[in-house]
This record gives sequence, structure tokens and C-alpha cells, in this order.
Amino acid sequence: MMRVFAIAEVSSGELDPVSIELLNLANAIKGEGSAEAVVIGNNLSEFAGELAKHADKVWKIEDGSLENYNPEMYVDVLLQLFSREKPDVVLIPNSSRGAEFAPLLAVKLSAPIVTDIVGLDFSNGVKATRYIFQGKLLVDVLVKESESYVFTVRQGVFKDECRVEGEVVDSGIKPSASPKREFVGIVEPEAGEVDISQADIVVSVGRGIDDASNIELAEELAEVLGGVVAGSRPVIDSGWLPKDRQVGISGKTVKPKLYLALGISGAFQHIMGMKDSELIIAVNKDPEAPIFGVAQYGIVGDLFDVVPALIEKLREVKG
Ligand SMILES: Cc1cc2nc3c(=O)[nH]c(=O)nc-3n(C[C@H](O)[C@H](O)[C@H](O)COP(=O)(O)OP(=O)(O)OC[C@H]3O[C@@H](n4cnc5c(N)ncnc54)[C@H](O)[C@@H]3O)c2cc1C
Repeated sequence: MMRVFAIAEVSSGELDPVSIELLNLANAIKGEGSAEAVVIGNNLSEFAGELAKHADKVWKIEDGSLENYNPEMYVDVLLQLFSREKPDVVLIPNSSRGAEFAPLLAVKLSAPIVTDIVGLDFSNGVKATRYIFQGKLLVDVLVKESESYVFTVRQGVFKDECRVEGEVVDSGIKPSASPKREFVGIVEPEAGEVDISQADIVVSVGRGIDDASNIELAEELAEVLGGVVAGSRPVIDSGWLPKDRQVGISGKTVKPKLYLALGISGAFQHIMGMKDSELIIAVNKDPEAPIFGVAQYGIVGDLFDVVPALIEKLREVKG
């Protein structure tokens, strides 16, 4: 009976949606076993309740000293839990935190680790799928048999939700020592930033938008549609949009209900970050643009004609 543990991420007083994505994956691979969440911090009842909707069991590790993330303390409490509750698989978000403490945990557990995975299969041995060479190749990593395995999981990939309604268990675990590193403070990102990987509608602009001043047009369309604006790498490199709006292998992976690509050619580095969107509509002057190869609907035309017409029509329809 395989026990799959997903380590939830709580930051700035919120449960990161990647936590649920880990549980989606855990439920998909557990077979007859269990998908179990671990949540670390202080005052966790609300988060634990939310996780329990998607997990067979939620382990709370609660302590005032765990209020703020600290890699040493995370590994300390997780090792205590795992010496008691033997995990077969540990899933950790491939976030900056996960990337920091997952290798340390793997070493302490003497477990193999594969990072930034986008697929996991236990049906015939252990096979983890990840990109290499900056997204040029997708490879299956065959992992040697081990008592337990650690994986860090790419955000935005495992979105098919699974409802379970499990129980919350207070682990009673406390940190065994005070950390060598002390928490100083959190530097918040600039106000007004959006998380494109969680948006249902993404209006994405490419070099075809031509100038920073034209971003407004995309913003107007996004506003009418109730979506957010993202961009291809040249748009970000030109400073027309902030870095966290970049879609692609060196940016974010998005999987919205609607991805509108405006003036984007469709280089594979871009496609990698948006190809799994539910509906892709592309607007491009060039009928040969590769973006049309992944789009369900394509408009061959000048975005400066198409977008204003679209905004007008949408306003008309919405009244
Ligand atoms: C290691 C590496 C990592 C990379 N990572 C990423 C990444 O994460 N994300 C990413 O996006 N790219 C990435 N790239 C860059 C990628 O290879 C492409 O260069 C980039 O995606 C091209 O962006 P674009 O489509 O906006 O621009 P272009 O390729 O220049 O395409 C512009 C398109 O706009 C169309 N167009 C122009 N004017 C109009 C108009 N008025 N109306 C309609 N259509 C118009 C043109 O026909 C053209 O198809 C990476 C490259 C490397 C080497």
C-alpha cells in the first residue's frame, strides 16, 4: 500500500494552490494506498481543513517557532514524522522553498530525488518525467528501486482536482532544536502583481505588440474578458511587462481555460509554457506562424485591427 505524502506550502498567511496540485498527483498515483498532506506552520486549522478535501489524511505540524519558513526546521520536523509514518513517496513544490529543502530531506532519508517533474508513473518501475536542456527535450527518468522517493513538482501541471474528504491529524511533533539561521523578514513583491499561472483567462502578447505603450490595448481586452496580461520573452526582456508575466520554459507554465496569443510567433520555448491551455486562440499577421499549429482557433490579421474590434464586440455583448 503506497503512502504518498504531499508537503503543502503556506506563505504570507495563504495556502499556495500548488499544495492542492501535489495532492492531485498523489491521488492519481496512490493506487490502493493513501494521499497524505503535511502542513507545517502555526494556526493551521483552516489550511488543514482545505487540504483534507483532497487528502486521505492531513498531518498538522504546528508550533509558534514554525510560523515562518525555515529549511532546517522543516527538515527536522519532517524527519520526525517520516521516522514514524514511513512514506513511499514525498512530493514537494518546485518552488524556491522546495528547491531549498527537498535535496536536504532526500539526503537525510537516503532517498533518490528527481526535481521539477511534470509526470510521474509507478505502473512499471518508477518513471519521472522532466524537461532537460532548457525545455528542448522531455525525458523519462527511471529511478532505481528504493524504500522512499522524493520529487519536486512543477507548478501549474497537475490541475485535475480529486475530492477525497479525509481526516486531519495533529502530529504533536515539535522542532527538536532551535535553528542556526534566524528569520528576519519577508520582502513582499510589488503591490498589484498577479499570478498568471492561476488565471482562467490569459491575454498574452508577443513582439507583435511592438511597443510598451500598446500593452494598454491588451490590458483593456484582459479587463473586458476578466483575465490577466502575460507575454513572450522578448516582451519581458524589453521591460514592457514584469518578469513574473513571462510564459514559457524560462518563465511560467500556464494552463488557463482561454489563452489568447497576440502577435506571438510560437517558438517552442513559448509553446512549452502554454500548450496545455484548454482553448488557444491566436492572432497573427503571418499565416505560417507556428502558433497556429497549437491553436484551436486562429485569426490571420493585424492585432491592432482585431483587438479593438474584439473589445468593442465584447462590450456590446456584455451590455
Ligand atoms: C534558452 C531559451 C529560453 C527561452 N525561453 C522563452 C520563454 O520562456 N518564453 C518565450 O516566449 N520565449 C522564450 N525564448 C525565446 C523564443 O525562442 C522566441 O524568441 C520568443 O518566444 C519569440 O517571441 P515572440 O513570438 O513574441 O516574437 P517573434 O518570434 O518575433 O514573433 C512575433 C510575431 O508577431 C507577429 N506580428 C507582428 N506584428 C503583428 C501584428 N501587428 N499583428 C499580428 N501579428 C503580428 C509576427 O508575424 C510574428 O509571428 C527562449 C529562448 C531561449 C534560447
